[in-house]
Amino acid sequence: MEVEELAAELIRFNTEVPPGNEEACASFLRDYFLDLRIEPSEVLLHRFAENRANLIVRVGPEGQAGLLLSGHIDVVPAGDLSHWDSPPFEPKIRDGKLYGRGASDMKSAIAAFVKAIENHKSAKLKRGIIFVATAGEEIGFDGLSALISDGKIRTRDAMYGIIGEPTDLKVVRAHLGGTVFRVTFHGKSAHSSRPQLGINAVENAARFIVEVAALRERLREIVYPDLGNSVISVTMINGGTKENVIPEKCQIIVDCRRIPIHSDEYIRAELDKIIDKIRNIVPTFDTTIDVKYNWSPLNTPKDHPLVVLAERIVGHKSEVAPYGTEGPLYQQLDIPTIILGPGKIENNVHAPNEYIEIKQLRDSVEIYSELIREVCI
Ligand SMILES: [Zn+2]
Repeated sequence: MEVEELAAELIRFNTEVPPGNEEACASFLRDYFLDLRIEPSEVLLHRFAENRANLIVRVGPEGQAGLLLSGHIDVVPAGDLSHWDSPPFEPKIRDGKLYGRGASDMKSAIAAFVKAIENHKSAKLKRGIIFVATAGEEIGFDGLSALISDGKIRTRDAMYGIIGEPTDLKVVRAHLGGTVFRVTFHGKSAHSSRPQLGINAVENAARFIVEVAALRERLREIVYPDLGNSVISVTMINGGTKENVIPEKCQIIVDCRRIPIHSDEYIRAELDKIIDKIRNIVPTFDTTIDVKYNWSPLNTPKDHPLVVLAERIVGHKSEVAPYGTEGPLYQQLDIPTIILGPGKIENNVHAPNEYIEIKQLRDSVEIYSELIREVCI
């Protein structure tokens, strides 16, 4: 099976999160590996919820592996199907491109990892390979978090980690962390002709939103090498019950992309300062903040041997990226990690008519094969 055929097979599994339903896709990959009959190898389907599973495959000698190759098999929802030229889970090849949800993000990289391992299936490995296909990456890394908490991946399990998220086959060694806060404004309902009898939660949210925009300007001045500055934005709002009722509740989502020196707690403290400032003017201002989810920054040094090796193989200098990945979870396990994969955001990632260029997909198999050769053989 060619790599684009394998990628197409993976696209056929509808793994939209929520709900995920990644188990069927993970089982398909498990069977594919079992059919390869690589000796020695260990293939484990890791079920962590109903119809939800990760796959972890260890190939080669025991002990610390050379390379960990990791990607997610869940995809973001296809959205309005009328915006797709062909159904998102019925992969189509047109003009050298493979179309379908997950084509770039990131079932192609999963297929490329598998083919690269297959390329070396008879090789005598000096260091092992760990292949990880995770579920639930797009909704807060629940699959990988379960794999780690169940002890299926451990500290220093591999020398180097590669995550195949779409980077246009460039080496990404660092990215920002992030936190998504949910802020709830508590008011008191009243007839809209008597606003003084109530507390308007939507108006209070508006006061807060203006201050978040001002905070964004202050954050712009704190610059971290390579990664720039933290960025904070209000991205969602929901409030009010009826046209003629002073709203008693309003909820907003605040998305913050953080440089390594800005922790969750730091940003939270900045939001608390805003609350205190508003409460000085509006004593009835009442709000609660919780963290919906968060992720850490990735910060592999420029001169790390993995970065240097990958730069040599792809022929490009490493870069930093604005999005989050599972990389920091591996970094916390002392597995230095980079992001390197086929496809790019411009290939309609998270949008209708997502695609991958087949040439680039094939190139990625070569790159991963070369990495395996350099590190494991
Ligand atoms: Zn992705």
